[in-house]
Amino acid sequence: MQIRDKHFDIFISAKKIKKRIQDLAVQINADYVDKNPVFLSILNGAFIFTADMFREISIPAEVSFIKLKSYRKMESSGKVKELIGLEHNIFGRNIIIVEDIVDTGKTLNHILQEFEALGAKSIEILTLLHKPEATKNPVSLKYVGFEIPDKFVVGYGLDYDGYGRNLADLYKIVE
Ligand code: 5GP
Repeated sequence: MQIRDKHFDIFISAKKIKKRIQDLAVQINADYVDKNPVFLSILNGAFIFTADMFREISIPAEVSFIKLKSYRKMESSGKVKELIGLEHNIFGRNIIIVEDIVDTGKTLNHILQEFEALGAKSIEILTLLHKPEATKNPVSLKYVGFEIPDKFVVGYGLDYDGYGRNLADLYKIVE
């Protein structure tokens, strides 16, 4: 499969992702009973994961979307942009941050600092993917869909230069 100048191979099927989401939801529904959590989804990459995940949540819960930075082509831009779109009052709330992928961990460290300052009662992270080999800023990840090698992936909400977010399965770059 080709997106612009790169080739990609299928990596994790939509079916496997769906199953993993259902398993994670069982855990979250149990862990957050009576905690009225707010899912804070990081746009753009997490939008499809969040939509599928949130529909498996059966306890009272809210969802909200925030934006931080854009990922230029295949490299992190280095600079973390300011957090925008946080309309929810998170003071005293149990927050679940929803990420598509944790790579270096820089983005999350930035978000965590901001949220702690805003007085959240608890903050946990839910990420579809984690690249442990690439994570330089250690961060505690409570719910991880899949641990993957340090290779560029697209599909299921994740893009390459803006494209590929609409692919149902997850693809890995062919080097
Ligand atoms: P971090 O701050 O952890 O280095 O970067 C996290 C963000 O970088 C993710 O939310 C995602 O937007 C982007 N990113 C990191 N690795 C990949 C990847 O393999 N594919 C895509 N499409 N984006 C990635």
